[in-house]
Amino acid sequence: MPLKLAVYPGSFDPVTYGHLDIIERALKIFDGVIVAVARNSEKNALFTVKERIDLLSETLKDRPQAMIETFDGLLVDFVRERGATVIVRGLRAVSDFEYEFQLAQMNRSITKDVETLFMMTSVPYSYLSSSIVKEVSSLNGPVDKLVPPLVKSALDKKFGR
Ligand code: ADP
Repeated sequence: MPLKLAVYPGSFDPVTYGHLDIIERALKIFDGVIVAVARNSEKNALFTVKERIDLLSETLKDRPQAMIETFDGLLVDFVRERGATVIVRGLRAVSDFEYEFQLAQMNRSITKDVETLFMMTSVPYSYLSSSIVKEVSSLNGPVDKLVPPLVKSALDKKFGR
């Protein structure tokens, strides 16, 4: 049987336990998950794409089935080029729904060969986003329960601590 590959796209600025939870759960369904960092997310980002990839690679170093890549341009083109058939997205509060719905419909109108699979956030991470992590960390608040230690150190460094 051919390998079943999924792509999990996002900005991952930086990776949080919420993202990692989705990746771990997706790995139980798929043979491999390509974590795809959007290159167009460079503006307004705290971490460069390279820094985000390094944090993801280090955090997922014991998970060879999780591959870290970057992508430019249309997501569905990237998905097809990689031989994947599924886009995995996480859903948190209702507020995620509207945008995710639009995105999934748009991708579906471009190609019927790629499905979008939504995974509900795990309760402890329902309000966790990279933006909230950056905000709390910039104010020197506690982020230990939100991101891996390596990411916490990288945040401390960014904010000059
Ligand atoms: P954010 O900056 O909002 O964390 P990303 O663009 O990095 O978002 O997110 C990539 C994907 O991960 C999106 O599908 C997003 O909904 C999902 N995601 C982010 N945080 C969580 C979480 N805490 N629980 C579930 N899914 C999440």
